[in-house]
Amino acid sequence: MTENFFPQEIIRKKRDGQPLSEAEIQFMVRGITDNSISEGQIAAFAMAVFFRDMPMDERVWLTQAMVNSGDVMDWSKADLNRPVVDKHSTGGVGDKVSLMLAPIVAACGGAVPMISGRGLGHTGGTLDKLDSVPGYNTAPDPELLTKVVKNIGCAIIGQTSDLAPADKRFYATRDVTATVESIALITASILSKKLAAGLDALIMDVKFGSGAFKQKYEDAEELAKSIVTVANGAGMPTTAILTDMNQVLGHTAGNAIEVRETIDFLMGKNTDPRLLEVVTALCSEMLVISGIADATTAPLAVQGALNSGSAAERFAQMIAALGGPKDLMSNPDAHLPLAPICRDVTAPRRGYIGEIDTRAMGMAVMDLGGGRHRASDTIDYGVGLSNIMGIGEKLGPRNPIATLYARTEDQADAAEARILSAVSITETVPAAGPVIGAKIKLEDL
Ligand code: URA
Repeated sequence: MTENFFPQEIIRKKRDGQPLSEAEIQFMVRGITDNSISEGQIAAFAMAVFFRDMPMDERVWLTQAMVNSGDVMDWSKADLNRPVVDKHSTGGVGDKVSLMLAPIVAACGGAVPMISGRGLGHTGGTLDKLDSVPGYNTAPDPELLTKVVKNIGCAIIGQTSDLAPADKRFYATRDVTATVESIALITASILSKKLAAGLDALIMDVKFGSGAFKQKYEDAEELAKSIVTVANGAGMPTTAILTDMNQVLGHTAGNAIEVRETIDFLMGKNTDPRLLEVVTALCSEMLVISGIADATTAPLAVQGALNSGSAAERFAQMIAALGGPKDLMSNPDAHLPLAPICRDVTAPRRGYIGEIDTRAMGMAVMDLGGGRHRASDTIDYGVGLSNIMGIGEKLGPRNPIATLYARTEDQADAAEARILSAVSITETVPAAGPVIGAKIKLEDL
């Protein structure tokens, strides 16, 4: 039997810092889902949580109630015979890790049904990158999704409206009421969608630094600890890794251009060492948490999947099975065209890259038309940045900060100005911080 409450009483309790019961939280989430709670009440509740916070048990109840607001995927009947595991990132600039990681983990024996999002603001979205691949279907029907995960081991697709619908309405109100930043609400929002995907285990990539959602290391760490505690409390084994976003991850930022870097990476060409470190750490942790390998053998398995070409093969198979070109890997120029204006952004003087405002590098992609200001915006898949330099790299006439691909001269000018003001130039070689911060495991909390 479901208990009946008054939303204003629950909001009042939270406003006054009193604990909420599981039934009260379930009532609020039911009301958010069936529209019996008004937008004003959702906003007031979110603001009360923002100021009064939620202890971990309330966060677990909120997450579980949001999971149960819609469909929950069940992989047990699909006969996968492999652990179902995924990775989620809090978002970054040039973060193409998912595109590499899913086929690597599939090649190592995991099943990765990865539900990804589109980009908003300065961070890119995995789904937008895949939308640059002609024919690729990010919304397959359940039968095709199951077939691809079963036969190939990975499928990267978009969110359906049936998964955690409470989050969709809740987030839309948070977005316009300055309440997105609540760590309790972020935790429940991210995890409700991941638990609804029916995973056996999850690895979280929580980014810190100038291009991250939580820029301060301590804030990112607090979010990581909350996610690990709540996910495990809700029954999904989860570990988080803090990774650096004080510079763009890899050589590129954009959509088609990041798929091109992915193809190169999987074929062992022009591999960025920091990107390789992040991919290896996250894939290894996925293999460990799902029992496929141990801490010693996991990195070797990842390296083996890359060196043998089996990860590249899985990626090619996934693309083809979901409607993309069969020859994407051998013929990226034909399928992933770049915008016609190609311009090197050269520093005004010699020296080394000191600090980078990574958020501004993401905004430069938006200046080019490669990102969204509003969810309804359309984007240009062919624009973006390549040859992006990292901290400590030497600048000179032949060593530009980046090369941009633009559709118009005006957009190229705006992006160039943004890039030039995003980097500082030093006389001596500065040291870049490590790309991997800390690993947050439940047993350490
Ligand atoms: N990403 C989400 O999915 N939810 C949040 O609340 C914040 C970031």
